[in-house]
Amino acid sequence: MPLSPQDLQRIEQELRGRRAAVLEELRSETRDEQGLLSLPSHRGEGDPGVDFEMEAVDLAQSLRDAGEIQAIDAALRRLRDGHYGHCADCGEAIDTARLLAQPAAPRCAACQQHFERTHARA
Ligand SMILES: [Zn+2]
Repeated sequence: MPLSPQDLQRIEQELRGRRAAVLEELRSETRDEQGLLSLPSHRGEGDPGVDFEMEAVDLAQSLRDAGEIQAIDAALRRLRDGHYGHCADCGEAIDTARLLAQPAAPRCAACQQHFERTHARA
């Protein structure tokens, strides 16, 4: 079942809303009160090894947020270009239910699984 114009409109709204929310999250993670860039840091207290681990976790979260914004931007671009809803890898139409659940999904379920298997992080 192809996406209706109403579906596409809803997806675009969702993408924009999600983008604003993630951007805000990212801003609060990486900016201090003056709005200056400041990566998360827990230095100066307790075990330096533990602090470093906490920093790494925070940084990973920020990177995930940044990656999500990229995925959302790519999806919005596809919407504008009229390519939305096609798998970035195999070019087949992505399942409508999948797109409604994950509007920024760049791949069909099969290709995403393959991507995750081949790009799995240790
Ligand atoms: Zn595919």
